[in-house]
Amino acid sequence: MSDDAGLQALREAARLSPDNLPLRQHLAGQLLAKGYLAEAEAEYRAALAFAPQNPGLIAGLAEAFVRQSAFGQAMAVLEPLLATSGFPPAVGILAARALLGEGNTAKAAYHYFEAVNRDPLVADQELQGRLAGPPTYAGSPEPPAPPGGSSPYLPSVPGPGDSSTAEVERSGVSFADVAGMEPVKEALRIKLLLPLQQPEMFKAFGKRAGGGVLLYGPPGAGKTHLARAAAGELGAAFVNVGLADILDMYTGSSERNLRATFDLARRNRPCVLFFDEVDALAGRRSDMRQAHTRQLVNQFLSELDGVDQNANEGVLVLAATNAPWYVDVAFRRPGRFDQPVFVPPPDATARAAIVRILCKDKPLAEMDYDAVAAATEHFVGADLKGVVDRAVEAKLHQSLSAGRPIPLTTQDLLAAAKTVRPTAVREWMGTARNYVMHANDSGAWDELMPWVKAKW
Ligand code: ADP
Repeated sequence: MSDDAGLQALREAARLSPDNLPLRQHLAGQLLAKGYLAEAEAEYRAALAFAPQNPGLIAGLAEAFVRQSAFGQAMAVLEPLLATSGFPPAVGILAARALLGEGNTAKAAYHYFEAVNRDPLVADQELQGRLAGPPTYAGSPEPPAPPGGSSPYLPSVPGPGDSSTAEVERSGVSFADVAGMEPVKEALRIKLLLPLQQPEMFKAFGKRAGGGVLLYGPPGAGKTHLARAAAGELGAAFVNVGLADILDMYTGSSERNLRATFDLARRNRPCVLFFDEVDALAGRRSDMRQAHTRQLVNQFLSELDGVDQNANEGVLVLAATNAPWYVDVAFRRPGRFDQPVFVPPPDATARAAIVRILCKDKPLAEMDYDAVAAATEHFVGADLKGVVDRAVEAKLHQSLSAGRPIPLTTQDLLAAAKTVRPTAVREWMGTARNYVMHANDSGAWDELMPWVKAKW
């Protein structure tokens, strides 16, 4: 590539006035435009030493990296900017390019569509075409970490004043690892996956992406497993929040913990934020005697609504409860957990499929999963996991004594099933029946009706 006199003059001018930031930025931009990528990189780095937060300089350096196929380095400089509210949409497009370069199509698509949503002028048909492929799942190999840093995908560095003890995970499971529950998976697909993949369509019908889903059903039926799989399906980060991460009896900082947990998810978007046992955090205010518990519920509501309109963009809140009737009705307003989804106990076909999944990767003889399903009526996923764990443990002992691996058989599973006491699904259905028969005016529990009316 031939140099030109204008560029040479700019270089000279910048050499004579190294502190002149606009001049250096202009030179870096010209170098980038003319394809002197390594020199542009050096010039942007030098300018950033004067103005480390300047979005234009950060974007310039990232572009220099992307065009040199240094995608990890591009993301490392972009991540802090992406975590700020109101970053320029063009930065989202750059992030999409870098992420696509890394093979993370789902996250790239998220940034691309989010940017185009904010400013249609940044749309790029060629890039959009490359994003149209199937999303990469969380099980796919991680891209290399950038030099000197952790993975650019999980920038879970605690922010200032962060008091959340919840951690960011990358889910290793997707919907393929969840047996049965087709209607539940379909509901989650419509609620979570499609709005991220086709935001324009949802916008056209006046629906905003985001919001939450309340999963309810008997304990052990797979609510947590499903939430983790939803994160994997989206290629999103997963934050699993237990009560201990939020409730603080002694210092009264529960509200602060809750805010920090939401902020953690916001810094790691796209992110599935999962609250287990949510009835303890979102209980009916009328049931609460203490003012501070009511305050926590109010704080939860305002975090769900987001301080400003885009605060929760890309943060998908899933919550699970065994006792949905204890959750304050305010949580069921549009944009919050407006759609409770029932996670039922598995039928025989689903039980066979769950056991098959749980036995995957174990040394196996020929298996009759239907026979195991028939012997485990009223068992939920957690119970079946107990059965498989027990059988595997016994087999391991036998194999160690024999000095060779002895494969697991149907008989082993049937024997283990006899020793496992299943979760009290029948009792749960009895309690549920009491609530839904007497308090279903809003129709919120319609989905549950046929289940509680069945014989258990
Ligand atoms: P819950 O959150 O409803 O109490 P979990 O999600 O913790 O239940 O389920 C316990 C375990 O049971 C999971 O870790 C998973 O191994 C297994 N499991 C439950 N449901 C399924 C399913 N549909 N497919 C595969 N495994 C399942």
